[in-house]
Amino acid sequence: MEITDERELLSEDVPLEEIIKNHPFGNYEDQIRQIKVVASSNGPRIDITDQGVVYLYLSNSVKKRSNYHYILFHEFGHICDRLDPLFGYNLKLRNELNREGNSDRKIFITDLWNVYIDGRLSKTDLFEFPKPPDKRIDPHCKKLINIDTIDSYIEEISCRFGSMGFDLNESKRLLNEVWNSGFGSLIYSFFDEQYFKLARQK
Ligand SMILES: [Zn+2]
Repeated sequence: MEITDERELLSEDVPLEEIIKNHPFGNYEDQIRQIKVVASSNGPRIDITDQGVVYLYLSNSVKKRSNYHYILFHEFGHICDRLDPLFGYNLKLRNELNREGNSDRKIFITDLWNVYIDGRLSKTDLFEFPKPPDKRIDPHCKKLINIDTIDSYIEEISCRFGSMGFDLNESKRLLNEVWNSGFGSLIYSFFDEQYFKLARQK
């Protein structure tokens, strides 16, 4: 597996090969041909092409974050899920989400997927909040949220769902359910179904 990291965004202390080899969602090493690490202020995020080329977008400062190696487990969690046929990742749905007018739906699905990843990582002690914690002023709930516990993490996302017009308590219930979902229990289309389910209850 070839890794290109021209901007030295990766820390040498945490080899990517180890993250991939030891990932609790499964070993998909043989399906990853190449990894290109790309500088982006709009990271961390990750993508993979049909040819097995992974693009890992990281900011310059990410390797200094206290939870850097957990971030890498999270990003490669997306790749493992996409390469797991049982998860049913669907490029057609993803392309639909990128179309105009679908931005809330895209954010909603991405948030649920992130919670599903972090919940599973937390079950294997591979999840940690950054220190100092992220702080968000939430315009919908009108408060400052320190994201340093599972409750505050779920609250911040449910406030975002609230700003989409969704019921706060229903959002919290769903987010807790997703956080507690075990390995292999959810599929990609489940997140989209939940979006329409909550939208019907508006
Ligand atoms: Zn993510």
